[in-house]
Amino acid sequence: MTTPADQKAQDIARAQSIPSYLDPQHLGPYGIFLEQVERVTPYLGKLAYWVETLKRPKRILVVDVPIHLDDGSVAHFEGYRVQHNTSRGPAKGGVRFHQDVTLSEVMALSAWMTVKNAAVNLPYGGGKGGIRVDPRTLSNSELERLTRRYTSEISIIIGPDKDIPAPDVNTNPQIMAWMMDTYSMNVGRTATGVVTGKPISLGGSLGRGDATGRGVFVTGAEAMRQAGVDMQGARVAVQGFGNVGNAAARIFTSHGAKVVAIQDVTATVYSEAGIDPVAALDHLRAHGTLAGLPGAQEIAKGDFWSVPCDVMIPAALENQITVDTAPKITAKVIVEGANGPTTPAADDLLREKGVLVVPDVLANAGGVTVSYFEWVQDFSSFFWTEEEINNRLDRIMREAYLSLADVAERHKVTLRTAAYIVACTRVLESRALRGLYP
Ligand code: GLU
Repeated sequence: MTTPADQKAQDIARAQSIPSYLDPQHLGPYGIFLEQVERVTPYLGKLAYWVETLKRPKRILVVDVPIHLDDGSVAHFEGYRVQHNTSRGPAKGGVRFHQDVTLSEVMALSAWMTVKNAAVNLPYGGGKGGIRVDPRTLSNSELERLTRRYTSEISIIIGPDKDIPAPDVNTNPQIMAWMMDTYSMNVGRTATGVVTGKPISLGGSLGRGDATGRGVFVTGAEAMRQAGVDMQGARVAVQGFGNVGNAAARIFTSHGAKVVAIQDVTATVYSEAGIDPVAALDHLRAHGTLAGLPGAQEIAKGDFWSVPCDVMIPAALENQITVDTAPKITAKVIVEGANGPTTPAADDLLREKGVLVVPDVLANAGGVTVSYFEWVQDFSSFFWTEEEINNRLDRIMREAYLSLADVAERHKVTLRTAAYIVACTRVLESRALRGLYP
């Protein structure tokens, strides 16, 4: 006979069953985040009581984005905005336009934003958005219509004090301007603080363009010091030549390092003598490919991983450093400009090899840090000089590195686990103090 107590236990168990988007059979990239949370749980002490709240995104919005194409037909795209956590403040994180975007990927990216924002102590939770589209296939006006309709669809959950999007893969200041304008038209006032990464003339911040690459440099330089790698003449290999990879390559070069390899979607190029990142970008813009770059030889895609180098900067997409590619890596330091480039199994392998990995949630936090500065400037309508911004950014990144290195040393764990210990502790402390409503 089922007693009322049994019935209640059964009801609760049923209600707690895993949501379909967390089904272990179809987890995708979010599974990597869950594995990272498993690894940190033993270090959370009493706060582990709340750890399940980190495993479940707070809010997921999936939207249909229909637009008129230039030929008069209608096309539908799939859009997402995920707010992983808002315990410490509004959700914050970029919007990605890519043909391979999936819900699981956006969930993982939003969760990594929660960890990143807490790791550098920004007063934000984590969010991320995306549209499953290859923007290269759209005209400029189609891209504008897509951006505006997507913004309108997600405007029910975003806002300067709710959730603040920003650029990510294949999105840029112009797209942020359209998002800001669309949201502003919907609410009937100019709300510059609803997105960051805007053009300077619309409340954007000086220094935002290079901020992620700059943070990669600052944390990378600290890691090199720790690993005993001299900056002068250090050989750097960069994967991804978008906003992050390009700025990082430029800044490392201006400090005496030498970019020996660049890989992007168009080609992989190598030069023992060093590649000038500015010339490489000019070449890419003029020819649409890195192939044929004067002074560099084109090598096979798979050979990128084994190029002789001291520092490797994955600055493209997730899942690049795996158990297949990690054993080939010759670098002593890896600085993760991309989000989620290394799988947990590859992380273990790199640790055994003695490679020092600066994890994404620390290495690429420079972008969202200057986004935070932009948001603060928009609120106060008082704008800072580039020097002030860069000095504050450098200080935050350097201090974050040093304090996480200290935690790593104390617990004898990797920098990634240290970042998760610090970040998850901060998020769950807020959660515990706030308690559950109602
Ligand atoms: N998309 C960037 C990231 O992954 C920046 C996010 C932001 O500025 O909000 O960190």
